Amino acid sequence: LLQQRIHGTTLEINLNALTHNYNFFKTKLLPQTKVMVMVKAFAYGGGAAEIANHLQQLKADYLAVAYTDEGVALRKEGIRLPIMVLNPVQESFIHLQQYDLEPVVYSPPFFRELAKFCHVQQTVMKVHLDLDTGMHRLGFEEQHIADLLELIQKYPQLQIGSLYTHLVGADEEIHHDFTVGQLKLFMSMADEIVSKLDYVPLRHALNSAGIIRFPEYQLDMVRLGIGLYGVEVSGRFDSHLKPISTLKTTISQIKSLSKGDTIGYSRKGVMDQAGRIATIAIGYADGYDRRFSNGKGYVLIHGKKAPVIGNVCMDMAMIDISGLDEIKEGDEVVIYGPTISLKELAERIGTIPYELLTNISSRVKRVYY
Ligand code: PLP
Repeated sequence: LLQQRIHGTTLEINLNALTHNYNFFKTKLLPQTKVMVMVKAFAYGGGAAEIANHLQQLKADYLAVAYTDEGVALRKEGIRLPIMVLNPVQESFIHLQQYDLEPVVYSPPFFRELAKFCHVQQTVMKVHLDLDTGMHRLGFEEQHIADLLELIQKYPQLQIGSLYTHLVGADEEIHHDFTVGQLKLFMSMADEIVSKLDYVPLRHALNSAGIIRFPEYQLDMVRLGIGLYGVEVSGRFDSHLKPISTLKTTISQIKSLSKGDTIGYSRKGVMDQAGRIATIAIGYADGYDRRFSNGKGYVLIHGKKAPVIGNVCMDMAMIDISGLDEIKEGDEVVIYGPTISLKELAERIGTIPYELLTNISSRVKRVYY
């Protein structure tokens, strides 16, 4: 792996851990329940094509991306699984058709536009209906159902592949009742739509935390995201999940400094006693969040914690290694990985693991094993 490094930082992806997590979630589901895997945002930073390819081998049922170009890229890589596109913009309709992608339809005007496109192209498209039960992001609300049913009758060019909703707080106990309310509302909206169709679309509502906490609502399919990548977000997975990614870098230089010396831009880091610092080859342009500056973040060197000192720079950061012996230039530094809780790290800077993972930039080389 080290030979493949082209700059100091590498994101190592353990595909066996991904298989382990996939199988773990399968054990929570009935054999007939389908699994749609979210590979949007470059598969949560892990690399969409490689992960989609692995999922194809694992016989996942569906993939989902956020935007049409993400789906096009997967098709160009030879991915044959059905792909749902969460937020297809009108300009991309032709690409949906060309690349056999299945758009989400979320409002009556959007339904009409897409249906007209299909009419002109003389084609039929499989679509997925997003039902808004409380997220208030995209989606048909209860009051749109009558309109929607008329549109479905009028435009047979759109075949309803599935109906789904998205939960706003499946991972948080405090939102338990709200989540149950969303699920019940979804069931009643879906029943109303299905009763007017002469075919039966799939229904799905659960994300990773939902699968663990509300398995009775697994319905026909679930939408697995963060859990597949090994990040625990429901508070209930215990230690069953294996983080799939390790973000690593190396030490470029070590310096001995005196009490009172300052470190980095704006002199934010200050040595409160004489000691040693190490400059590591990762910065905010690699996705190492600048909010980790000056003690908010830490890294692991030979398994030991070392705090960030000073402001994180664009391509480098400095860490305080005073008191850590036997550290030398060229040594490996773990930024995120199985031995660091991503959730805890994210909380230190007021964010969530999803943001840390998806921010790892494209210049960081991904290596699969
Ligand atoms: N379904 C939809 C519509 C989503 O937007 C997402 C992720 O944001 C998921 C499912 C997967 O959620 P999670 O990563 O929490 O499993």
